[in-house]
Amino acid sequence: MELPAALAAALPRASAITVLTGAGISTDSGIPDFRGAEGLWTRDPNAAERATIGAYLSDPEVRRETWRMRRDHAVWGAEPNAGHRALADLERAGRLRALVTQNIDGLHRRAGSAAVLEIHGTMLEAECLACGLRTPMPDVLARVAAGEDDPPCPECGGVQKAATISFGQALDQDVLDAAVRAARSCDLFLAVGTSLTVQPAAGLCLEAVEHGAALIVVNAAETPYDPIAAAVVREPIGTALPELVAAVLAPPS
Ligand SMILES: [Zn+2]
Repeated sequence: MELPAALAAALPRASAITVLTGAGISTDSGIPDFRGAEGLWTRDPNAAERATIGAYLSDPEVRRETWRMRRDHAVWGAEPNAGHRALADLERAGRLRALVTQNIDGLHRRAGSAAVLEIHGTMLEAECLACGLRTPMPDVLARVAAGEDDPPCPECGGVQKAATISFGQALDQDVLDAAVRAARSCDLFLAVGTSLTVQPAAGLCLEAVEHGAALIVVNAAETPYDPIAAAVVREPIGTALPELVAAVLAPPS
């Protein structure tokens, strides 16, 4: 990996690093992304439409199909990979400001990261859309496996879904505010495995740069923020990210 010399020299002094991750960091764990060549929405454009909250609430067949997809999701057999582990190392070394993720797979926490801001929620929990009750997703999927094809809330009978942000649902403002604060107060911002096309996540890059941080984009394809990045890394995340983190954790020369 070739970085501009000034940036490479600055990495060991970066003391408050904010990271934004997208689906690209989890593909090495066997979880398909959305917009890549083999992405879920590239292969099935209607899937994005089925993911709206309106369709989910109004159509029981959409809910039944979505429960089957949750049951069969790759996350249940997935393990964190070298990219996830590198970011956990960064946090253990006291250099991470926040780890903002668009991913709902829980792999950052399983890799040992704690300062995680899951701006699109988590699929490891179910949430009742009527009363807000949170339940571990495996418990609900056990009901699906036992024959309930659209398991209602055990407290109020309401419709349940994964505790994720669907199209048409508002983001959690507290989580978003924390992500913006982390972008504005970092000295290095890493955008990893995200196409940077979904707002407001993508806009965090601009917040960071406008507040003086250096931006490094690690992504296989071009992003709209490449022109304002101090460096763009196209190498595979599984090798590039551990290398970047090693450069940050190296003693200053
Ligand atoms: Zn409920």
